[in-house]
Amino acid sequence: MKKVFLETYGCQMNVYDSDIVKSVLGKSGYEITDSENEADIVLLNTCSVRENANRKVYNRIHNIQQGRTDGSKVTIGILGCMATNFRKQLLENPNLPIDFIAGPDSYKRLPQLIGEVNGNGAESKNFDVTLSEFETYSDVYPSQSDGVNAWIAVMRGCDNFCTFCVVPYTRGRERSRSPENVVEEVRRLSDLGYRQVTLLGQNVNSYHYEGYDFAYLLDKVSEVEGIERIRFTSPHPKDFPKLLLKVIAENPKVCKQIHLPLQSGNDRILEMMNRTYTQKEFLDLVAEIRTLCPNIALSTDIIIGFPTESNEEFEDTVAVMEKVGFDSAFIFKYSERPQTIAKRQFPDDVPNEIKTERIVKLNDLQKRISYWKNLAHMGEIHEVLVEQESTKKSVDEYQGRNDGNKLVIFAKGEYHKGQFLKVRIREATPNVLRGEVVDVLQK
Ligand code: SAM
Ligand code: SF4
Repeated sequence: MKKVFLETYGCQMNVYDSDIVKSVLGKSGYEITDSENEADIVLLNTCSVRENANRKVYNRIHNIQQGRTDGSKVTIGILGCMATNFRKQLLENPNLPIDFIAGPDSYKRLPQLIGEVNGNGAESKNFDVTLSEFETYSDVYPSQSDGVNAWIAVMRGCDNFCTFCVVPYTRGRERSRSPENVVEEVRRLSDLGYRQVTLLGQNVNSYHYEGYDFAYLLDKVSEVEGIERIRFTSPHPKDFPKLLLKVIAENPKVCKQIHLPLQSGNDRILEMMNRTYTQKEFLDLVAEIRTLCPNIALSTDIIIGFPTESNEEFEDTVAVMEKVGFDSAFIFKYSERPQTIAKRQFPDDVPNEIKTERIVKLNDLQKRISYWKNLAHMGEIHEVLVEQESTKKSVDEYQGRNDGNKLVIFAKGEYHKGQFLKVRIREATPNVLRGEVVDVLQK
């Protein structure tokens, strides 16, 4: 039995796809191993969203074969977004020791691709990077192993073409799974003991299938017995109709947490980015969400240093962050991506030193806001889903997440993974809440 070692880069969708790959290969007689040294085949599931992710993968490719102490030949495959985005470079560079590449819609063909490489025993590079308008892997159950939260991709691809973003080119057109199929997978996960599911999609709230929308899907998933929490990521601010906001606010199983990517607070930059909303529309949406759901946790994504972004325009982003007060934010320097509209039309003209200044300023601001937000929870009792031993400081502690997806740490006690606890918050830092367990919930 051939052994496969799989390493994943990038977003949660890639982590999910890696579980699909494990499932497909497992069914075809391959064994998944945690030991790279024992593996006959090493697969890198790659990300192309920002330049530094690519760089890491190129470095990694070189040290896989070099790392073989016994000199045995390892088959190397590149999966994911780099396979579609850098197909030519990967296939034609004679110095890259890779055997095959497979794009995000080709994972069912992996056994064949690997088989052909091994069958040839040759240096030829095999590939399949065809993007499909239909592939949703709805007939593959990914091999999830977390035990508490399960991810479910309900849609794939993206039709939005934000000018900075490579996703429409690497993952293709938007397509959704049927509600019945999603619900069937959620039922199976509930039977396996999962208490929380996170619905995934590049633009998850634009989910639509024969007249059924995302609000309908959330409600249907919430009817599955055993599932107590539903999260979703990543939504686009343009797709929050009133009905969806009502479901989020009123359905007790839908967590009161929304990731709402702002990208920029300046209208000219938002238009250049093709985000299809203005600063005012974004702020109005936040106000509407908070009216319906006052305690909702909001997080965001920001890009600083988009081409031509002036200091004043950057200050508009600062102002929106101050006004909204996000619970957390992922802040990125603009990184020019191949094929994108921005690369073709707007030179990457904001110097790196300016990008660094801006990112430092925003990270400092967000740290202060997150701290202030967390301090406001002191003394409150939060419902926490136990995840694992704490990865911070001490093995005598457990960690879990509250409804707003914040990390909550507490003393170990006789609790177990997947249990719901009531925890009184006693301490706050910008990233973590600490507390004491006051009750165990019978859910
Ligand atoms: N679909 C989501 C949305 O509409 O915002 C985001 C998905 S994207 C793969 C994840 C995040 O990466 C984006 O929100 C953006 O902030 C960041 N990102 C994407 N392309 C980028 C680029 N070229 N440079 C820097 N950051 C980028
Ligand atoms: Fe990329 Fe925009 Fe699609 Fe998000 S919505 S995946 S940022 S193109």
